[in-house]
Amino acid sequence: MSTTSPLYEGKAKSLYTTDREGILVQRFKDSATAFNGRKFATLPGKGALNNRISSILFRLLRESGIDSHYVDTRNTRDMGVRAVRIVPLEVVVRNVVAGSLSTRLGLDEGVALRHPIVELYYKRDDLGDPMICMDHAAVMQLATDAELQQLKRMALEVNDVLQPLWASAELTLVDFKLEFGRTDSGLLLADEISPDTSRLWDRTDPSRRMDKDVFRRDLGDLVETYTEVLRRLLTVAAAHDPGELTDAPSDR
Ligand code: UDP
Repeated sequence: MSTTSPLYEGKAKSLYTTDREGILVQRFKDSATAFNGRKFATLPGKGALNNRISSILFRLLRESGIDSHYVDTRNTRDMGVRAVRIVPLEVVVRNVVAGSLSTRLGLDEGVALRHPIVELYYKRDDLGDPMICMDHAAVMQLATDAELQQLKRMALEVNDVLQPLWASAELTLVDFKLEFGRTDSGLLLADEISPDTSRLWDRTDPSRRMDKDVFRRDLGDLVETYTEVLRRLLTVAAAHDPGELTDAPSDR
Protein backbone atom coordinates (compact mmCIF):
# COMPACT_ATOMS: atom_id res chain seq x y z
CA MET A 1 0.00 0.00 0.00
CA SER A 2 1.32 3.44 -0.90
CA THR A 3 0.90 6.20 1.66
CA THR A 4 3.08 8.81 -0.03
CA SER A 5 0.56 11.39 -1.26
CA PRO A 6 -0.94 13.50 1.52
CA LEU A 7 -4.51 14.44 0.76
CA TYR A 8 -5.14 16.60 3.82
CA GLU A 9 -2.94 17.85 6.66
CA GLY A 10 -4.74 18.56 9.95
CA LYS A 11 -3.45 19.67 13.34
CA ALA A 12 -3.37 16.20 14.92
CA LYS A 13 -3.85 13.90 11.92
CA SER A 14 -3.13 13.67 8.21
CA LEU A 15 -4.99 11.78 5.51
CA TYR A 16 -3.20 9.88 2.77
CA THR A 17 -4.50 8.22 -0.35
CA THR A 18 -3.88 4.52 -0.86
CA ASP A 19 -3.93 2.28 -3.88
CA ARG A 20 -7.29 0.87 -2.74
CA GLU A 21 -10.36 2.60 -4.16
CA GLY A 22 -12.35 4.38 -1.43
CA ILE A 23 -9.82 3.64 1.34
CA LEU A 24 -7.60 6.26 2.97
CA VAL A 25 -4.98 6.19 5.70
CA GLN A 26 -5.58 8.43 8.71
CA ARG A 27 -2.17 9.06 10.33
CA PHE A 28 -2.12 10.18 13.97
CA LYS A 29 0.59 12.78 14.62
CA ASP A 30 2.49 13.51 17.83
CA SER A 31 1.49 17.17 17.74
CA ALA A 32 -0.77 18.62 20.42
CA THR A 33 -2.61 21.89 19.85
CA ALA A 34 -5.12 23.86 21.90
CA PHE A 35 -6.88 27.22 21.85
CA ASN A 36 -7.36 27.17 18.07
CA GLY A 37 -3.67 26.38 17.47
CA ARG A 38 -2.26 29.10 19.77
CA LYS A 39 -0.73 26.45 22.09
CA PHE A 40 1.41 23.84 20.37
CA ALA A 41 3.78 21.00 21.33
CA THR A 42 5.20 17.79 19.91
CA LEU A 43 4.67 14.90 22.33
CA PRO A 44 6.37 11.69 21.12
CA GLY A 45 4.08 8.69 21.53
CA LYS A 46 0.79 10.62 21.56
CA GLY A 47 -0.13 9.72 17.96
CA ALA A 48 0.31 5.98 18.54
CA LEU A 49 -1.73 6.12 21.76
CA ASN A 50 -4.63 7.94 20.10
CA ASN A 51 -4.54 5.56 17.12
CA ARG A 52 -4.74 2.53 19.42
CA ILE A 53 -7.43 4.00 21.71
CA SER A 54 -9.53 5.21 18.78
CA SER A 55 -9.20 1.87 16.96
CA ILE A 56 -10.39 -0.05 20.04
CA LEU A 57 -13.35 2.32 20.52
CA PHE A 58 -14.42 2.11 16.87
CA ARG A 59 -14.27 -1.71 17.08
CA LEU A 60 -16.33 -1.78 20.28
CA LEU A 61 -18.87 0.65 18.79
CA ARG A 62 -19.18 -1.56 15.71
CA GLU A 63 -19.85 -4.56 17.99
CA SER A 64 -22.69 -2.50 19.46
CA GLY A 65 -24.13 -1.81 16.01
CA ILE A 66 -22.66 1.68 15.43
CA ASP A 67 -20.69 1.73 12.20
CA SER A 68 -17.83 4.14 11.45
CA HIS A 69 -15.23 4.90 8.81
CA TYR A 70 -12.81 2.54 10.64
CA VAL A 71 -11.46 -0.25 8.45
CA ASP A 72 -8.33 -1.52 10.21
CA THR A 73 -5.28 -0.58 12.25
CA ARG A 74 -2.35 -0.63 9.85
CA ASN A 75 0.56 0.06 12.20
CA THR A 76 1.29 2.10 15.32
CA ARG A 77 0.12 5.42 13.90
CA ASP A 78 -1.94 4.57 10.81
CA MET A 79 -5.62 3.68 10.68
CA GLY A 80 -7.25 2.50 7.45
CA VAL A 81 -10.53 4.36 6.97
CA ARG A 82 -13.30 4.62 4.40
CA ALA A 83 -13.21 7.80 2.35
CA VAL A 84 -16.13 10.05 3.37
CA ARG A 85 -17.16 13.64 2.72
CA ILE A 86 -16.86 15.26 6.15
CA VAL A 87 -19.92 17.21 7.40
CA PRO A 88 -18.50 20.60 8.54
CA LEU A 89 -19.92 20.23 12.05
CA GLU A 90 -18.42 19.19 15.37
CA VAL A 91 -21.05 17.33 17.36
CA VAL A 92 -20.39 17.59 21.12
CA VAL A 93 -22.18 15.40 23.67
CA ARG A 94 -22.05 16.39 27.34
CA ASN A 95 -22.91 14.44 30.48
CA VAL A 96 -21.21 16.68 33.05
CA VAL A 97 -20.54 20.46 33.06
CA ALA A 98 -16.99 21.30 31.93
CA GLY A 99 -14.99 23.49 29.57
CA SER A 100 -16.87 25.95 27.41
CA LEU A 101 -20.28 25.00 28.88
CA SER A 102 -19.02 26.07 32.28
CA THR A 103 -17.52 29.37 31.08
CA ARG A 104 -20.41 30.26 28.73
CA LEU A 105 -23.24 29.65 31.19
CA GLY A 106 -21.42 30.25 34.49
CA LEU A 107 -22.07 26.70 35.71
CA ASP A 108 -19.68 24.90 38.07
CA GLU A 109 -17.46 22.27 36.47
CA GLY A 110 -18.35 18.77 37.64
CA VAL A 111 -22.13 19.19 37.98
CA ALA A 112 -23.91 16.23 36.37
CA LEU A 113 -26.43 17.25 33.73
CA ARG A 114 -30.04 16.11 34.15
CA HIS A 115 -29.73 14.39 30.76
CA PRO A 116 -27.05 14.31 28.04
CA ILE A 117 -27.04 17.33 25.74
CA VAL A 118 -25.87 17.67 22.15
CA GLU A 119 -24.27 20.84 20.76
CA LEU A 120 -23.20 21.73 17.23
CA TYR A 121 -20.12 23.73 16.30
CA TYR A 122 -19.44 25.03 12.81
CA LYS A 123 -16.01 23.81 11.67
CA ARG A 124 -14.46 27.12 10.60
CA ASP A 125 -10.98 27.87 11.99
CA ASP A 126 -11.17 31.50 10.81
CA LEU A 127 -14.34 32.01 12.91
CA GLY A 128 -13.01 29.99 15.89
CA ASP A 129 -15.51 27.12 15.38
CA PRO A 130 -18.62 28.96 16.69
CA MET A 131 -21.43 27.07 18.40
CA ILE A 132 -24.53 27.07 16.20
CA CYS A 133 -28.07 25.77 16.51
CA MET A 134 -29.78 23.27 14.24
CA ASP A 135 -31.62 26.05 12.38
CA HIS A 136 -28.31 27.80 11.59
CA ALA A 137 -26.91 24.52 10.27
CA ALA A 138 -30.00 23.92 8.14
CA VAL A 139 -30.20 27.47 6.75
CA MET A 140 -26.50 27.40 5.85
CA GLN A 141 -27.09 24.02 4.21
CA LEU A 142 -24.34 22.39 6.26
CA ALA A 143 -26.68 19.41 6.61
CA THR A 144 -30.31 18.62 5.83
CA ASP A 145 -32.96 18.52 8.56
CA ALA A 146 -33.03 14.73 8.29
CA GLU A 147 -29.24 14.53 8.60
CA LEU A 148 -29.28 16.83 11.64
CA GLN A 149 -31.83 14.62 13.38
CA GLN A 150 -29.72 11.58 12.51
CA LEU A 151 -26.50 13.24 13.75
CA LYS A 152 -28.12 13.97 17.09
CA ARG A 153 -29.57 10.47 17.42
CA MET A 154 -26.26 8.80 16.49
CA ALA A 155 -24.30 11.04 18.88
CA LEU A 156 -26.58 10.03 21.77
CA GLU A 157 -26.30 6.36 20.77
CA VAL A 158 -22.50 6.63 20.85
CA ASN A 159 -22.81 8.17 24.31
CA ASP A 160 -25.02 5.27 25.45
CA VAL A 161 -22.26 2.83 24.48
CA LEU A 162 -19.23 4.83 25.59
CA GLN A 163 -20.48 6.04 28.98
CA PRO A 164 -20.76 2.55 30.56
CA LEU A 165 -17.63 1.42 28.78
CA TRP A 166 -15.49 4.23 30.23
CA ALA A 167 -17.18 3.73 33.60
CA SER A 168 -15.92 0.11 33.57
CA ALA A 169 -12.46 1.62 32.99
CA GLU A 170 -12.98 3.74 36.15
CA LEU A 171 -13.38 6.92 34.08
CA THR A 172 -16.29 9.36 33.86
CA LEU A 173 -17.15 10.36 30.29
CA VAL A 174 -17.71 14.08 30.89
CA ASP A 175 -18.05 15.17 27.24
CA PHE A 176 -16.74 14.34 23.78
CA LYS A 177 -16.71 15.56 20.20
CA LEU A 178 -17.70 13.56 17.14
CA GLU A 179 -17.46 14.18 13.42
CA PHE A 180 -19.48 12.51 10.71
CA GLY A 181 -19.00 11.90 7.01
CA ARG A 182 -21.30 11.30 4.10
CA THR A 183 -21.12 8.17 1.97
CA ASP A 184 -23.36 7.08 -0.88
CA SER A 185 -25.30 5.03 1.68
CA GLY A 186 -25.69 7.75 4.34
CA LEU A 187 -23.91 9.22 7.36
CA LEU A 188 -20.99 7.44 9.01
CA LEU A 189 -19.14 8.20 12.22
CA ALA A 190 -15.67 9.49 11.24
CA ASP A 191 -12.52 11.23 12.57
CA GLU A 192 -11.30 9.85 15.95
CA ILE A 193 -12.54 9.18 19.46
CA SER A 194 -9.69 9.61 21.92
CA PRO A 195 -8.65 11.53 25.04
CA ASP A 196 -7.86 14.39 22.62
CA THR A 197 -11.55 14.67 21.77
CA SER A 198 -13.16 13.45 25.02
CA ARG A 199 -13.03 14.60 28.64
CA LEU A 200 -12.33 11.67 30.95
CA TRP A 201 -12.13 12.11 34.71
CA ASP A 202 -10.87 9.50 37.15
CA ARG A 203 -13.96 8.09 38.89
CA THR A 204 -12.43 7.98 42.36
CA ASP A 205 -10.60 11.31 42.09
CA PRO A 206 -12.48 13.56 39.60
CA SER A 207 -9.80 16.24 39.96
CA ARG A 208 -7.51 13.80 38.14
CA ARG A 209 -8.03 14.75 34.50
CA MET A 210 -7.13 12.01 32.02
CA ASP A 211 -7.56 13.83 28.73
CA LYS A 212 -6.27 16.77 26.71
CA ASP A 213 -7.03 19.19 29.55
CA VAL A 214 -3.70 17.89 30.97
CA PHE A 215 -2.09 19.72 28.04
CA ARG A 216 -4.53 22.65 27.81
CA ARG A 217 -4.20 23.43 31.55
CA ASP A 218 -0.60 22.21 32.18
CA LEU A 219 -1.72 19.50 34.62
CA GLY A 220 1.05 16.94 34.03
CA ASP A 221 2.49 14.52 31.51
CA LEU A 222 0.03 13.93 28.68
CA VAL A 223 1.71 10.82 27.23
CA GLU A 224 1.85 9.17 30.68
CA THR A 225 -1.83 10.05 31.16
CA TYR A 226 -2.95 8.62 27.80
CA THR A 227 -0.86 5.48 28.49
CA GLU A 228 -2.90 4.96 31.67
CA VAL A 229 -6.16 5.55 29.75
CA LEU A 230 -5.10 2.87 27.22
CA ARG A 231 -4.14 0.46 30.02
CA ARG A 232 -7.59 0.81 31.60
CA LEU A 233 -9.39 0.59 28.25
CA LEU A 234 -7.49 -2.59 27.38
CA THR A 235 -8.74 -4.34 30.50
CA VAL A 236 -12.33 -3.54 29.43
CA ALA A 237 -11.77 -4.34 25.73
CA ALA A 238 -10.11 -7.67 26.57
CA ALA A 239 -13.35 -8.81 28.16
CA HIS A 240 -14.93 -8.45 24.69
CA ASP A 241 -11.92 -9.73 22.70
CA PRO A 242 -8.91 -11.23 24.53
CA GLY A 243 -6.82 -10.51 21.40
CA GLU A 244 -6.90 -6.79 22.26
CA LEU A 245 -4.27 -7.40 24.96
CA THR A 246 -1.80 -9.18 22.70
CA ASP A 247 -2.47 -7.69 19.25
CA ALA A 248 -0.61 -4.41 19.67
CA PRO A 249 -0.05 -2.77 16.28
CA SER A 250 3.57 -2.81 15.12
CA ASP A 251 5.59 -0.98 12.45
CA ARG A 252 7.02 -4.12 10.82
N1 UDP B 1 -13.38 19.26 21.49
C1 UDP B 1 -12.63 18.75 20.45
N2 UDP B 1 -12.21 19.60 19.48
C2 UDP B 1 -12.51 20.92 19.47
C3 UDP B 1 -13.27 21.44 20.54
C4 UDP B 1 -13.69 20.58 21.54
O1 UDP B 1 -12.35 17.56 20.40
O2 UDP B 1 -12.11 21.64 18.53
C5 UDP B 1 -13.85 18.35 22.56
C6 UDP B 1 -13.17 18.63 23.88
O3 UDP B 1 -12.01 17.83 24.03
C7 UDP B 1 -14.23 18.26 24.88
C8 UDP B 1 -15.55 18.56 24.15
O4 UDP B 1 -15.22 18.61 22.79
O5 UDP B 1 -14.18 16.87 25.15
C9 UDP B 1 -16.19 19.85 24.60
O6 UDP B 1 -15.26 20.88 24.48
P1 UDP B 1 -15.63 22.38 24.97
O7 UDP B 1 -16.73 22.92 24.13
O8 UDP B 1 -15.83 22.36 26.44
O9 UDP B 1 -14.39 23.25 24.55
P2 UDP B 1 -12.97 23.44 25.23
O10 UDP B 1 -13.16 23.73 26.67
O11 UDP B 1 -12.27 22.15 24.98
O12 UDP B 1 -12.39 24.57 24.44
